[in-house]
Amino acid sequence: MDPSTIPAPGSSERTRVRRISEKAVEDRGVVEAILDAGLVAHVGIVEESGQPYVVPVAYAREGDRLLFHGSTGSRLFRRLAEGAPTCVTVTLLDGLVLARSAFESSMNYRGVMALGTCTVLDGDERDDALRLISDHLLPGRWGDIRPPSRKEIAATLVLALPLDEVSAKVSDKMPEDDPQDVDRPVWGGVVPLRESFGEPVADERGSAYPVPAYLGSWTR
Ligand SMILES: Cc1cc2nc3c(=O)[nH]c(=O)nc-3n(C[C@H](O)[C@H](O)[C@H](O)COP(=O)(O)OP(=O)(O)OC[C@H]3O[C@@H](n4cnc5c(N)ncnc54)[C@H](O)[C@@H]3O)c2cc1C
Repeated sequence: MDPSTIPAPGSSERTRVRRISEKAVEDRGVVEAILDAGLVAHVGIVEESGQPYVVPVAYAREGDRLLFHGSTGSRLFRRLAEGAPTCVTVTLLDGLVLARSAFESSMNYRGVMALGTCTVLDGDERDDALRLISDHLLPGRWGDIRPPSRKEIAATLVLALPLDEVSAKVSDKMPEDDPQDVDRPVWGGVVPLRESFGEPVADERGSAYPVPAYLGSWTR
């Protein structure tokens, strides 16, 4: 897609941020940075019965689309492959905002919501997408592991969601206490929250080999 023709975040009627709209993001670069920093997307579908389901999955961003992979037997992936409309969210939790009232206590976050329908990828595009999803989760790992066999690929649905109807909200603030609460004798402020890898734990066979350098060098 020509980047100049992609609608700005929040520019459709369905994606316009209405409540606390000062947190809305119009910069596509911020949307992309949030998607690149996240690891899990929550993907929604509505079953034929009308029952909605929201399912967490891995993903990667490739330019102006999101890539997903899952089993051909998965309800979520089958529905998406049929062209069911979806709503996908990626949320990064950055901290707890501890105000002096329950009402003003909140969270700092960065979040993206994307609406649309997926297309099924095939051939080289599908194979590349599988590598990109792996690279997004842990860059460098793909080069060390066995690539999927034809049989494994046949059992996998790989989907792309265009990022042409998205919105984003970012909240990054200190507590905004009401005047009546500011002198309350209690600590207030922000407690930052960061995702990080712990020390790698080798399995029985893994302990015979050095910990790959990409595990040590990669941070979120
Ligand atoms: C962090 C994370 C990343 C994941 N990444 C992927 C991925 O990339 N690809 C992939 O195919 N799957 C992934 N999964 C698993 C995914 O969430 C679903 O469990 C799986 O895709 C099966 O979906 P389905 O529609 O076939 O569910 P079904 O098996 O049809 O679901 C039946 C019922 O099981 C329950 N259920 C299913 N999944 C979950 C869940 N995750 N949590 C709680 N209850 C559940 C629900 O009640 C649901 O109605 C991931 C899960 C997590 C937590």
